[in-house]
Amino acid sequence: MTRIVEIEIEKYLSTKEYNPSPHRFSPSETPVAERTIPIVYSCENCGCQISFKPDDFKKHNNSKNTNLQKNDKIIIDKYIKNSIDLFNLPSLDFYCPNCNQPTTILFKGGPSGYWGIFELEIEKILGLKKNRIEVTINFKILESNPISGKFDEKYFGETDTNPLWIRFTSNDFSDWVGSFASGDIGLSNSKIIEIDNTSKVGILINGAFYLIDRSLKELIFKPDQGYFTDFYLVPDIELLILATNWGIHIFKDKEIIKEIRPDFVDGVKFIKRKENLLTGEICEPTENGDDWSEFELNLQTLKLKWKKYEY
Ligand SMILES: [Zn+2]
Repeated sequence: MTRIVEIEIEKYLSTKEYNPSPHRFSPSETPVAERTIPIVYSCENCGCQISFKPDDFKKHNNSKNTNLQKNDKIIIDKYIKNSIDLFNLPSLDFYCPNCNQPTTILFKGGPSGYWGIFELEIEKILGLKKNRIEVTINFKILESNPISGKFDEKYFGETDTNPLWIRFTSNDFSDWVGSFASGDIGLSNSKIIEIDNTSKVGILINGAFYLIDRSLKELIFKPDQGYFTDFYLVPDIELLILATNWGIHIFKDKEIIKEIRPDFVDGVKFIKRKENLLTGEICEPTENGDDWSEFELNLQTLKLKWKKYEY
């Protein structure tokens, strides 16, 4: 089964129009100089950023060319034909280079002004969701050690007499349990995050971090250190960011590429990512308890800004 989603333009597009005319019709219109070109679409499904030039739209304005496979195109076309607003609009379509989601941008375009420069306005973005790539994974932390032989078992990390057991089940019929050893400095924490549309799962357990492939039941990466307190995965640029009580370790391709250690801190946590910025909080111990304040990590430059400092 598949379904079409109408993607919120305001949320996922840097700008929805390109108007080269220097004239403004009303004072509330943004002057041309401030209009953002290229047009950047952040994939609704995975966050991957895809840029377009006005010429990309111009090429598709009078052409029926498609970049989609026939089956996907048919489903999207059927949706468009049933809509009075979208019927007959030119379109630009593509597969997201990261998650492969079929996406169609519908726009109005044409020559404008005295010079006839191509202008455009994006009317709608459609995404095609496919259930076959939406395998729902469920995982459950087991309260006690599983009965030997009941499940397919897989061990991760060094021997641990009291590991965390996680049972992975999914609608592709797999069912197995993994045993994950704790880290090494007596931390007590756990966090499990699946990467959308992949079979990768990040697992933090008492200081130890594991990136596994739950379909293959294999370890992809585990740093040697066991003192982590939080993690954030950025799949589109393959970054792994791990927090410790004293700073941040940034990994790319299983190699550490940057370590940030601000002075006199006592904890780091990640909150959310918006485009290229990952925000979080850093804790400073004070006489009256802990004081958490926000930081921003630029995922492109890997520069971290916190209070008046930059690392
Ligand atoms: Zn995507």
